[in-house]
Formats: sequence, structure tokens, C-alpha cells
Amino acid sequence: ESYLDNAATTPTRSEVIERMNEVMRDAWGNPSSVHAVGMRAKEVLEESRATIAGALGVEPGEVYFTSGATESNNLAVRGVCSARRDNPAKIITSTLEHASVTRSVRGMRREMNWPVTYIDAIDGKLDLGQLRDALTESPTSLITIMNVQNEVGYIFPSAEIGRMRDELAPDALYHVDATQAFGKLSPKPREWHAELASVASHKIGGPRGIGALYVRDGVKMHTNAFGGGQERGLRSGTEPVFLAAGFARAVELAQAEHEETLAHVRALSAQIRAELARLVPDAIVNSPEDASPFIVSVSVPGLRNAKSVAYLSDRGVYASRASACESNHEHVAAGTWRKKHPLSLQAAGIPLSQGNTTLRVSFSGATTPDDVDRFVATLAECNAELGSRK
Ligand code: PLP
Repeated sequence: ESYLDNAATTPTRSEVIERMNEVMRDAWGNPSSVHAVGMRAKEVLEESRATIAGALGVEPGEVYFTSGATESNNLAVRGVCSARRDNPAKIITSTLEHASVTRSVRGMRREMNWPVTYIDAIDGKLDLGQLRDALTESPTSLITIMNVQNEVGYIFPSAEIGRMRDELAPDALYHVDATQAFGKLSPKPREWHAELASVASHKIGGPRGIGALYVRDGVKMHTNAFGGGQERGLRSGTEPVFLAAGFARAVELAQAEHEETLAHVRALSAQIRAELARLVPDAIVNSPEDASPFIVSVSVPGLRNAKSVAYLSDRGVYASRASACESNHEHVAAGTWRKKHPLSLQAAGIPLSQGNTTLRVSFSGATTPDDVDRFVATLAECNAELGSRK
């Protein structure tokens, strides 16, 4: 089998499973309990937090565990805006965000009547002129613009955005969804001058169901989860210590293997481009050369992705359509979301007709050159059998 959908999720690494088993067996207590059993769990929780903070280059006290990037993004947007509800000001975001950001932002517009400015990113180039205008025109409460885009792998200029905020709207807070960057490109929110950043565990060989939100010390936030006051009041609920420990182990592995993995996926990205050009000459690679090497988006005109994904899957090759989350939109909103909100691929300048024929291939350190060979060979076969441009 060839699994090429690592931007959706990754197999849990064996070292991570071992670590989680150990913690479930030996540190299963409630970290809030003040007896020794609780304290053992607390110690593991705090060690895990320190590992994640270290990887982000921030203080452990600035890292809050959540259930994943979706919750981190919701908490970042809603938490900041609720804390600033007495000073309404617009939110700035991009047209290519993940639904967990876009829908949180839209929620704030609906509930609090805050204006929203969307910055275009045609062909993956974030329009910094538009951003400059937006920051100059009227007060801004929050900028939320991702680092690595999850469908095409575009890398947005996070540090440049931070500098513009500092210069033009120093009162605005800046959040970065770093889900597709963390554990892969080693993002450092402080270098971006970001006050908030979202990350997740399951994209890098850790367990599902845990992520984190970095919130710079001193930033005022409201919570979405009321209760026992865990995570310094920002996210109540008994902490899943074994998940935190598994997440931390995945981060340690990613850090230790960083250079090697990066060189490896760069080679895979070059390989897939070369092989597609040779064996599927119709194919259009949407990801620019300077995109994240972990993601390659490719369209095959005349070959619908609903068909090609199934064809590949029947032959043990797993890629996705534009992104796993996009298919959720379709499913959940039964078409209405689609009509009101263009596919983010369209917002990236990829025509709608091409959106239906777009596949996303995404790598991890465990992906092999053989996996890439199989993908391209099977796609070529599929195009010959099912494509309309034979
Ligand atoms: N943000 C981005 C950029 C993503 O790629 C994903 C992945 O699905 C998410 C947020 C949501 O992550 P999760 O499914 O862990 O909540």
C-alpha cells in the first residue's frame, strides 16, 4: 500500500504508541489531584508541554493543550474577539484558510457584527498591498493568516505580515494557523511576531485528538470551555495526559529527524514532478516550486478526482481530492456553503473546472520513492482508462 495523504493525517508512529502505553499504565492519574498519583500525571503533562514549547521556541506557560488544530483555531479567533468585544474592530484573514478559521471568523461577523476583510492569494501570492491597505484604512482587532496552506502547500510570508502589523496596526493581535508547518518546517511564532499559533499532533505521527495553541504571555483571551479551570482557565476539562505525551514524543522525533526528513521530501517532490511530466503529460502541477515540499497538488484535465481517488484507492494508492476538509464542507452543508463561498482552490486562481480534477499528494518522512512511482504509474493508467482526453 502507498499512503500519500499525510496532510490529512499520518499513521501513529510506533515510538509514540509505546510512549502512550507507558503513560496510560504508569501516569493515568488526574493532573489536578494533589496526591502522588496525580502528581505523576502532572509531571508528564508539564514535560510534554515543555517539549512542544521548545519546538515552537516559546515558554511552556504559553502553550495550551486543545483537542486539535480545529479547536485551537476556534479558540484563537473566538477567544481573542470575545475578550475585545467592547472594542469592535475588523478581522483580517485570507481567502485560503482552513474552514476552522473561516467559519470562526464568519461566526464573529454574525454574532458581533464585526467586519471582515479577506486578503487574496492568487497563485499562492498573498496580496501584501491589500493587507497594507486594510491595516491602514480602519482599526483591526485580529489578523488570522495561515503559514502553510493545506491544499496546495503555499507558504505565506508570516514574518512579513507580523512586521506590517507592528508598523501599521500595533494594537491588532496576530494569529497563525501553523498546522501544516509544525514538525515539518519548524515554524517559530516569535520570529513572525505572532501572539497566537495553532498546531496539531496527528499531522506528524502523533495521536489524533490533541493539539495546542500558543498564546503569548499577557494576551487577554476568553475561554470557550468552562469548568475546573485546567490549562490556566483557558481550556477546562481533565487533560488527556497520554495524548500529550504521545504528541511530545512525535515532536521530539520530528525535531531529531528534521534535516533528514526535509531533504527526503524535497527529493520526493522533485521526483513526482519529473515523473508526472513524463508519464502524465496532461497533468498540471498547481504547487509552485517554493511551496511546502510536503504537499503537491496536481490537476489532470478531463479526469474527475472523485473517480481517480477511488481508482487509486482500489489499487492500494491513497491520495485525496483537494483536501479532506473540503469534502467535509460538501457533506455538511449539502451544497449551500459551496454556493456562497467559492472553493478555496478557486480563490487560489485554480479554475473551478480544474478543482474537480485536482488531487493532493502529501508526504511524510516514511513515504518512499516507490510510493511515488506507484502513484504516478497508477494515475497514468487511470487517465488512460477513465480520462476524457485520451
Ligand atoms: N488547519 C489546517 C491548515 C489543517 O490542514 C487542518 C487539518 O485538517 C486543520 C486546521 C484542522 O486540524 P484538526 O483536524 O487536527 O482539527
